[in-house]
Amino acid sequence: MKTMDVCKDINCVRAFIKNIKQQFKTVGFVPTMGYLHEGHMSLVKASKKMCDITVVSIFVNPKQFGPKEDYSKYPRNLERDLGLLEEAKVDMVFMPDIDTIYPEDFSTTINIGPLANVLEGAFRPGHFDGVCTVVTKLFNIVKPDKAFFGEKDYQQLKIIQKLVKDLNLDIEIIPIPTKREEDGLAMSSRNTYLNQDERRRASSIYRFLLKAKESFEGGIKDTDKIIEYAKAALDVDAVDYIKIVDKETLEEKTTPSKYDRILIAVRIGSTRLIDNIEI
Ligand code: AMP
Repeated sequence: MKTMDVCKDINCVRAFIKNIKQQFKTVGFVPTMGYLHEGHMSLVKASKKMCDITVVSIFVNPKQFGPKEDYSKYPRNLERDLGLLEEAKVDMVFMPDIDTIYPEDFSTTINIGPLANVLEGAFRPGHFDGVCTVVTKLFNIVKPDKAFFGEKDYQQLKIIQKLVKDLNLDIEIIPIPTKREEDGLAMSSRNTYLNQDERRRASSIYRFLLKAKESFEGGIKDTDKIIEYAKAALDVDAVDYIKIVDKETLEEKTTPSKYDRILIAVRIGSTRLIDNIEI
């Protein structure tokens, strides 16, 4: 049985990919920050289904964390991750060190413009520059035919699609629906930060989203009224934002229409959680 390749350096990835391309096989790519859960694994499954070879990267990207964010305490468990990926029959895992991705003289940043400054970008300045910079590098290293991104991080998905379009990258971005726990909480590596009471309250985020959708479908066509109605379901400590936006441009809607997207970011204790659904 073929075992999974694990590469820590870029030459190792390039040699692997060169060999694959010589065989005219297609490459699917799933970039992650590790601490894998079923959400990540649904991206892997989709890649396995659509592509000949599946590559997963594990890299906690320091450039997408703000100075006061959780970079150093972000959960990590490489051994467990590798076990899950091996079990899923992933072909190659790229898990570079920080110096491999950002050598001392590294200085380029990718900024895709206004889309990166709204919603998450307004609360996490520079976050999407960090995301776009690392994803561009990973794309150039892995040279995938298709790359898989979760709708869980909806703005990120739209930004990566724009990046690929603007820079004419020859990669197809495949969106994958959000995987949820039984009570509706979107799976996230950050859920491990929640204590029992916080975890219970976190399920109110999805109930809020469903209630908002229900009120829209019930005939309320005003964003403020939809949010006001649904907010009774929400049991969190603080709301960073709740917006209904156009699903492509992410422009705010005061009178939403079908297929718009409702996005929410909240804090429960010291944990920040995001979620979204189609309205
Ligand atoms: P992360 O490791 O958090 O950077 O996520 C890596 C990829 O997995 C991103 O494309 C995420 O959008 C995706 N992802 C994270 N959580 C979920 C989820 N619950 N369902 C589907 N995809 C997810």
